[in-house]
Amino acid sequence: MTRKKETHQFKTEVKQFMHLIINSLYSNKEIFLRELISNASDAIDRLSFKAQTDANLLGDDTEYKIKITPDKNNKTLMISDNGIGMTYDEIVENIGTIARSGTAAFMKAMEKSKNKDTLTPELIGQFGVGFYSAFIVAEKITIITRAAGEDTATQWESTGDGSYTIAPAKKKTRGTDVILKLKPVEKDEQDFTEEWTLRNTVKTHSDFVNYPIVMDVEQIEHETDDKGKQILDKDGKPIQKKRVIKEETLNSMKAIWAKDKKDVTDAEYKDFYTHISHDWNPPQTHLHMKLEGVTEYSALLYIPSQAPMDLFSPERKHGIQLYCRRVFIMDDCKELMPEYFRFIKGVVDAPDLNLNISREILQQDALVRNIRKNLIKKIINALDQMDIEEYNKFYNEFGAVIKEGLHTDFENREKITKLIRFKTTKSDGKWVSLKEYVNNMKPDQKDIYYITGDNLAAILNSPHLETLKEKDYEVLLMTDPVDEFVIQALPEFEKKPLKSAEKGDLGLDKIDEKKKEAYSSLFEKIKSLLENKIKEVKPSSHLKDSVSCLSGETYDMSAYMEKLLKASGQPIPETKRILELNINHPVMEKIQHIFEKNNEDDALKDYSNLLYDLAIVTEGGKVENPAGFSKLIGELMAKALDD
Ligand code: ADP
Repeated sequence: MTRKKETHQFKTEVKQFMHLIINSLYSNKEIFLRELISNASDAIDRLSFKAQTDANLLGDDTEYKIKITPDKNNKTLMISDNGIGMTYDEIVENIGTIARSGTAAFMKAMEKSKNKDTLTPELIGQFGVGFYSAFIVAEKITIITRAAGEDTATQWESTGDGSYTIAPAKKKTRGTDVILKLKPVEKDEQDFTEEWTLRNTVKTHSDFVNYPIVMDVEQIEHETDDKGKQILDKDGKPIQKKRVIKEETLNSMKAIWAKDKKDVTDAEYKDFYTHISHDWNPPQTHLHMKLEGVTEYSALLYIPSQAPMDLFSPERKHGIQLYCRRVFIMDDCKELMPEYFRFIKGVVDAPDLNLNISREILQQDALVRNIRKNLIKKIINALDQMDIEEYNKFYNEFGAVIKEGLHTDFENREKITKLIRFKTTKSDGKWVSLKEYVNNMKPDQKDIYYITGDNLAAILNSPHLETLKEKDYEVLLMTDPVDEFVIQALPEFEKKPLKSAEKGDLGLDKIDEKKKEAYSSLFEKIKSLLENKIKEVKPSSHLKDSVSCLSGETYDMSAYMEKLLKASGQPIPETKRILELNINHPVMEKIQHIFEKNNEDDALKDYSNLLYDLAIVTEGGKVENPAGFSKLIGELMAKALDD
C-alpha cells in the first residue's frame, strides 16, 4: 500500500500534557535527553529480546548503539538508535496519543492537584515524561523510523502546536532517528549542540544505560614511533599529527549489580535507582545480593520512598528487569516478584538462565521459581529488620499492598502476618502489630476484635464499639478496602479468633432475660412496622450509650463490604440487617409506655423509623427520607423544649 503525507491532530490530553511539561520543566531542560535516550535503549531492549528467537531480524547490524549527533550550524540535535523502530501504524499509535497507562494516571493526579500550572519534579519523576519533553528544547521534531524486518520507513514531524504530519520516507538502516530543531538558546542557557553539555548530561542522567551512547568527537592524533609511543618535541610536548573525528562512548555502562557491595558508593546506588525507575526521589532503601550455589543470581532491588499513583492500577508494570550475564532479557518481569511486592524496582541477573527464554515459559522455569522464592525471603527479612521508624515510613506507603499477600501467598502467610499493622482504638493513630495487640489483651479477653469501614473517624465513633470500649478491649480499625480480604485469610492469630465488632452477638454480657421478655411484643411491633428494611429486631450486645444500631449475622457481608461492592458496580444480593436496640436506654422505656397504652398509636411508626434512621446515620450512611427525618427530630425537640 502506498501512503501519502497526512496531517493528524494530537489528542486533547496530549496537548494538555505537553503544555504542562513544557511549562514545568524549564529549569530542568536537560532531562529531555535522558528521556530520548531511554526510549532508544528500550527500543534496543525490545529488539534484542525479539532477536533471541529470530536472529534474522538483525542482519549485519549487530552492534547495538545509540548515537548523538549535534550540528552547531543548523542548530539540530539527532538521537539515533538501531533498535526495533516503528511501523507507520505504530508511530500513529505511540506518538500523538497517550498510550502509557502511567500518563493517564498522571493526568488524573494533575487534575486533582492544587497547583495545575507547575508540576513538582517529584510528581513528574514518578511517571517519566517521555518523548514529549523534547518540545522543551525543540521548535520542531522530526522522527524517521524503520521497523526491524521492514523495508519502508516513516517520517513523523511536528512543531508541537497541536498537529503532526506523517509520511512514507527512506531510511537505509533499521531503527529510529529523532531530529530536534533546537529553539534559540537564551543567555546563560545550556546549548545542546555543545560537546561538553552533551557529555555532561549523558554522564549525569544516562551513565548506566546498557548500550554505548556514542558521539563523534574531534580528537588530535600525535606522532608516534614504531612502538606506538608518542614522539615529543624539544619542549617535551607530544607532536600533533592531525585532527581526526572519532566515535567516543560517553557512558560507562557499569552494571553495578554485578559489582561487590563495597565497591559501590551511595551516590551510585541512588543514580542507578533514578536510571531504572525514573523516580527522582531517592529510594527508601536497597538490597544488593549475590547468591552462589545451585541457584545462582545477583540482584539489586530498591524500595521506593513513595508509592506511585498507579500502584493499584491493573495495567501497572512491575519494576524488575531480568538480565543474563549482563545481557538484557526483559523488563516488567512479573514472574520474579509477587504482586504484593509490585512496587519493588531493580535488576536480577541470572547467569544460568536460558537466553532464549520466552515470557510464556518463564513461569515454569525451575530456576526462575527458585530465584523468586529466594527474593521474597530476602525482602521479608529486610522488612523484618527495619527499625520502627523506618518500617512505619515504609508501611504508610506500601502497607495496603503487602496485605494482599495474605490472600495470595499461602506459603508465606505466616511471615506476612508478622509484617502487617493496624491502627486501633487505643493506638492513637500509630501502627500496631497483631503480636502487640495480643500482648495487650485483657486477661479475660478471648477474641481479637476488629471493625471495618472507610472513614477512621466514623468507625472510631461507631456505636458497635460501646460495650467493647467499656470493657477496655482494644479494637483493630480496618480502613483499607483490602482488609475485608485480610479477614478472610486470617481467621485467627496465635489461636485467638478474629471477631467482628459489628456482626453477630459479642456474647460479652448476659442480656437480662426478663427485660428482653418484657420488650418482646414491642420488638415484634417495630419489626412489623419496618418489615421491608430489616430482618429482625434484637436487644443489643454492642450498645451502651446509643439507642440503636444495625448489625449483621456473623457470616453476613459487612456494611463496608457492601459499600465497596456497590461502588464497584457489582450486583449484590439485598441482605436485610438486624436492628439492635439498647434495652437499657431510657428512650426505649418511653416507647414501651406508648406501646402499652395503645399498641396502634401512630407515633410508634414514627419512632420506629427514627430508631432505624439513627442507626443509619451513626454508621455514616444516608437516610432514605432526610426531610421526613429532620421534620420528626424538629417536632421532638419542640416537645422536649416545651416541657
Ligand atoms: P514511554 O517511552 O514512556 O512509553 P514516550 O512518549 O516516550 O513514552 O514514547 C511513546 C512510545 O513511542 C514508546 O512506548 C515506544 O513504543 C515508542 N517509541 C518512542 N521512542 C522510540 C524509539 N526510539 N524507537 C522505537 N519506539 C519508540
